[in-house]
Amino acid sequence: MHDTVIRGARIVNGSGGPAFTGDIAIEDGRFVQAGGKAGPGRREIDADGLLATPGFVDVHTHYDGQATWDPWLSPSGWHGVTTAVMGNCGVGFAPAAPDRHDWLIGLMEGVEDIPGTALSEGMSWNWETFPEYLDALEAMPHALDIGTQVPHGAVRAYAMGERGAANEDPTEGDIAAMAGIVEEGLRAGALGFSSSRTMLHRSIDGEPVPGTFAGHDELMGIGRACGRAGHGVFEIATDFGIGGMDGRFRDDVVWMRDLSRETGLPVSFILAQSDRSPGDWRRILDWTEAAVAEGARLRMQVSARPAGMLMGFESSMHPFMGHPSYMELAHLPLAARVARLSDPEVRARLLAEDSIRQGKFDSYVFNHFAGMFPLQS
Ligand SMILES: [Zn+2]
Repeated sequence: MHDTVIRGARIVNGSGGPAFTGDIAIEDGRFVQAGGKAGPGRREIDADGLLATPGFVDVHTHYDGQATWDPWLSPSGWHGVTTAVMGNCGVGFAPAAPDRHDWLIGLMEGVEDIPGTALSEGMSWNWETFPEYLDALEAMPHALDIGTQVPHGAVRAYAMGERGAANEDPTEGDIAAMAGIVEEGLRAGALGFSSSRTMLHRSIDGEPVPGTFAGHDELMGIGRACGRAGHGVFEIATDFGIGGMDGRFRDDVVWMRDLSRETGLPVSFILAQSDRSPGDWRRILDWTEAAVAEGARLRMQVSARPAGMLMGFESSMHPFMGHPSYMELAHLPLAARVARLSDPEVRARLLAEDSIRQGKFDSYVFNHFAGMFPLQS
């Protein structure tokens, strides 16, 4: 008699081989069978029509704050994630000068829409350098494995102060200081380094993530530091495919290719597709394929939904926030707002209007009704 038997699951065992259907048996906390027909179990779980996997590696998360107080990293564990990689998009909380805590929270809040109040209440800030941050993470248990990346935004502000935060050009000394911080973080156990190249990612004050406009010398200087450390993925948040920084796609693929070829390190970047520029992804894919053929290790991160935003009348964003008829009601408490919006005359006016927000972000996110769906609770 087994302790537990999972019956009739579609098993994806992590070997890279094809999925197959079978039973899984567990005794004394260990798998004793995966596939075929298992004998009876004290506890039996019917998994007909369900996948059984060792877990999922989520390469793109922003648990940098939550991981310092929440051992469960919810909700990722609920979804079957067993390894979460954080520190993406150039934002994170180390290194952190003592007078930069609120600024780093504002950066994360602006870029990732994580409430600053939760971060302020949750984080103890018992670190300053990146290695100290890793020590703080290691001092508490976690239900998931986590991987960290040294974030460009935090590094720039730490090495260059206000000039770095304001996206000013670095001196040679600044680049050397940033490279040293990144190398130190990697040697202490960081998985990689991350940066942002998209105008869609801004701090709560509207400033693009520090490092967004970083030039060749800065990026190569940091890349060589990763090379000296001997490991490290270079993760770049781009607006590739969604028509962000006009004309820069090609240049970015070129420096990523050069960096990967020179250091031998992998570069991972985001590719999305937008109806606004529906063919861009194909061109970018072609350039990337050519770079890979030339020996670069470039890998794309493609999300199932290009815009993964939670929109709602109580969230930071929703499709009507730029409609004049909505803006007249925006100050009302939720119940009163919904009552007014339910008025057929107000609804008709709202739907007939155009948003006064016409930026790239707005056309990508707010007017793309075909890509939205109601979230079921
Ligand atoms: Zn991100």
